[in-house]
Amino acid sequence: MDFNRFLAGKSNLIIESPLSNVIRKIASLKSKGVRVISLAAGDPDPNLIPRDILADLASSILREYPSSVLYSPTAGLPEFKSELVKFLRKYDGVNVDPENIIVTIGGTGAIDLLGRVLLDYGDAVIIENPSYVNTILAFRQLGGALYGVKLNVDGVDINDLDSKIKYLLDKGLKIKFIYVIPTGHNPTGVTLNIDKRKALLEIASKYDLLIIEDAAYNYLVYDASQIKTLKSMDKEDRVIIIGTLSKVLGTGFRVGWIITSDILLRKIVNMKQPIDFCAPTISQYIAYEYLRKGYYEKYHLKAVSKYREKRDVLIKSLGDLLPDLDYIKPIAGMFTMAFLPNGIDGMEFSEKLLSKYHVAIVPGKPFYIDESGHNTIRLNFSRPSMEDIVEGVEKLAKLLKEYA
Ligand code: PMP
Repeated sequence: MDFNRFLAGKSNLIIESPLSNVIRKIASLKSKGVRVISLAAGDPDPNLIPRDILADLASSILREYPSSVLYSPTAGLPEFKSELVKFLRKYDGVNVDPENIIVTIGGTGAIDLLGRVLLDYGDAVIIENPSYVNTILAFRQLGGALYGVKLNVDGVDINDLDSKIKYLLDKGLKIKFIYVIPTGHNPTGVTLNIDKRKALLEIASKYDLLIIEDAAYNYLVYDASQIKTLKSMDKEDRVIIIGTLSKVLGTGFRVGWIITSDILLRKIVNMKQPIDFCAPTISQYIAYEYLRKGYYEKYHLKAVSKYREKRDVLIKSLGDLLPDLDYIKPIAGMFTMAFLPNGIDGMEFSEKLLSKYHVAIVPGKPFYIDESGHNTIRLNFSRPSMEDIVEGVEKLAKLLKEYA
């Protein structure tokens, strides 16, 4: 059957993730029984998640709450939302009512819903370049035209942002929002500094734009006690913050949220209903009990210090073995980006590292919205063990020396 003639015209906008190839190759090696050291993941470490505790919670929830196996309200389970309100106040400095929260299928669901409600075909979206690959794919498949802003080691380049906006407005384009990952940016590991946070809000205000603040890594902060979210500094209800428990409970639970208000919130809920009905009820119950019982403080904050150690091991290994390599030292998140010397191609380098040394990393190129980023690679330190981080960097250094 040739299905092409049945596909919607707009399905032209749907393309395969540029990371699929990498993921397939890793899976293929593993299926052949090869031991692959992976610095490629976007996951937390399952051994730093209290799985026994979660198992007990799941077991008692399934016994005690019959409704845990049923649909829950589209905007989210009320019990979870009332715990989340307290959590957001404490850890994101955000004061909201439960009515301002829509619980989504992870941050991914949040990004998709916002794109659907906000974007008409051809609308301009301003995004850090590079940015999270699935966000790029999501906004593009919804018809968004992405315009990149330079990213410096302390976050988005404010001058570039200002001139890009002016340029787009001069061209008569409709800019809908600025999407940023201010803390522990994926794929670079960059965190936006406080002065630039203020400047970003001022610019959004000056040009009357919305900001989508993707707070996916807000609960993995290593070198600052608390980073001020854009939302906590926002006096104009201009910032829509999206969050997730993926890095706390695990990426498999699929619990995220959008915080906003008014007509935008109502449209999102109405749109969401026929898409997925609700985020997984059982996951929301588990998240509810996890937060209510203080397990975030008891287990996650301990895990954060382990992730910090892993980050330090990665940085030390890179420093010891590749003292001339240029890379970001992340204060939050689970990644660092490195810039390969002498124009070495990150795609080719990643493939070689995997096939020759069985070390998986992710090339940075797929995270760029244009033709830049050829010499970049992304390294993950949350998922691998400390030993694997050391061994992975040793092999990476070895391959880099072979290039020289
Ligand atoms: N935003 C960013 C920046 C991410 O890196 C991720 C996960 N890698 C997500 C959103 C979505 O994660 P999830 O859907 O698991 O919440």
